[in-house]
Amino acid sequence: MNIQDIFCTIVQIDSESGNEEAMSLFIQNFLQERNISFSEEKEFQLIAKIPAKNKKSAEAKKLMFCAHMDTVSPGKNIIPFIDDSGKITSSGNTILGADNKASLANMLFLIDKIATNEITTHHHLEFVFTTKEEIDDPAVYALDMKKITSEVGFIFDKANENDMNTVVSVASSISDFTVEIVGKGAHASSPELAINALEMMVEFVSELQLGACYPHSTLNIGKISGGEATNTYPSRISLAGDFRSQSPEYMKKIEDDLLKAQQKVLANPKFCKNGEKGNIDINIMVYCKGYAHNVQSKNFLALERIYKKMGYENLTIIDTQSGSDASCFMNHATHAIETFCLNDGCFDVHTVKEWTTVENLEKLQSIMQNIACDF
Ligand SMILES: [Zn+2]
Repeated sequence: MNIQDIFCTIVQIDSESGNEEAMSLFIQNFLQERNISFSEEKEFQLIAKIPAKNKKSAEAKKLMFCAHMDTVSPGKNIIPFIDDSGKITSSGNTILGADNKASLANMLFLIDKIATNEITTHHHLEFVFTTKEEIDDPAVYALDMKKITSEVGFIFDKANENDMNTVVSVASSISDFTVEIVGKGAHASSPELAINALEMMVEFVSELQLGACYPHSTLNIGKISGGEATNTYPSRISLAGDFRSQSPEYMKKIEDDLLKAQQKVLANPKFCKNGEKGNIDINIMVYCKGYAHNVQSKNFLALERIYKKMGYENLTIIDTQSGSDASCFMNHATHAIETFCLNDGCFDVHTVKEWTTVENLEKLQSIMQNIACDF
């Protein structure tokens, strides 16, 4: 068994978000064949546990590795291809699924090495396999967190970074929102009867600062739909988007901006006609909470030591505006686990050009192994 074989096997198991059952069954089989105990969790998620080996009980730490089984689309019938240089791509019509199967394959490879006694000294290890990470409702929040007893966690899910020793130190909070703009439709020849939802939308949007609205913060409206016919003033327009920030204050400010824009439009007499009023409903949903690591914490320094031991100069610290399962573990109300989101060695993820390399898969294995044995 080698890492590229496991990787190429599992990227061929379709597992777009919400359809992870086959992937979960493959992992369950893989664990059963190696006598690794695991529990099945909600939404096909799994928690596997391997007790420490050849460590004095005082030295044995409890560590978690976590990866998500799901992929974005187009992720069906993926055909992986390895060229002479070791670059791994899909056939070009689908994603590769290296996000997050580069990490998933490496977790399975590590488990196999332990099961076959190729690795004989390691800490207590928990392997958590999650689903629906790529969509608005990540299943990690449905895990029974009491079952996870690790003191520190590692998630290799940061893509597009050249340095393998990259760690996310600050992650933004992300909130999704929808805006339902309701006016009143009327025939194109009778503007006096219409409360034009499009005009309401234009005024609403012009009150907002889209894009990089505040320092380390963004606001985007990514979906616009509405209107009924070419000869009708639109009665309804729906918008959907998200906003992100490293700072809780700016998250609140952006929320306030949306509400102020709503009030401004609703106060405009232009959108009140013949005793009827236009309306705007805003619904804001927290997608994930941000976090910041203490780069002087015991665990952070221990992680840095692992990378240094492997020949890296230090850890490359970055901040990110994209979410990962790490937010759930970092922010959990009763069972928070200091969890690091690390480079997965993958590039152009979420596109049909997604790629990784055999070399990066091997580097990832070496990093995971060093953590499992020496953290
Ligand atoms: Zn991912």
